[in-house]
Amino acid sequence: MDGAHLGVALVLNATYEPLCVVSVRRAAILVLTAKASCVTDGEGVLHSARHRIPVPCVVRLHRYVRVPYRGHVGLSRRALFARDGGRCAYCRGPAETVDHVLPRSRGGGHTWDNVVAACARCNHTKSDRTPAELGWRLHTAPASPRGTAWRVLGHRAADPRWAGWLDLDPAMLDQAA
Ligand SMILES: [Zn+2]
Repeated sequence: MDGAHLGVALVLNATYEPLCVVSVRRAAILVLTAKASCVTDGEGVLHSARHRIPVPCVVRLHRYVRVPYRGHVGLSRRALFARDGGRCAYCRGPAETVDHVLPRSRGGGHTWDNVVAACARCNHTKSDRTPAELGWRLHTAPASPRGTAWRVLGHRAADPRWAGWLDLDPAMLDQAA
C-alpha cells in the first residue's frame, strides 16, 4: 500500500474512548476490512491495488473491545522526560540526565516515585546525597503518570488532531517528540 509510511493513527473504541495508536497502514486495513470507520482524515490518499482511501488520522472500531485496565506506565528515559516536561526537578533548567532522588547507592529504587529528570549540573552536585541533605526541594513529588493520554500514548508524541480525544497534559505535546 503506497503512502503507508505516513505515520500513526489513533484508534478509538466503539465507545469513542481512545484505545491505542497504530500505524497508518494498520488503521487503513481496519477501515478496508470494515472493522473500523475513519473519524478524522489525515492528509493524502492511500492506494492499494483495488482501493483508494484517505489517510486515516483517527478511526473508530465498530465493535467494542474490552481492555484490561493498564495502570502501569513503563519507566523509560523518554517517558520520564515527558512526565517532567524536559525540566530539571531541582532548578527547572533543561534536563539532560535521570536522577534517583534517594540515590541507588543508598537503596533508592528505579521507580517512578524515585526518579526525576535533572540537568547535568544538579545531578553532579547532588551526587549520592538526598535533596534534604542539600537543602534542595522538589517542585512536585515524583509519581507514576496517569490518565488516558499516558495509557494510550506512553511517551509518544500526540498528533494535534487527536487532542480532542485525549486528556492531554500540555507537557506531552511540548516534550514527547
Ligand atoms: Zn538543575
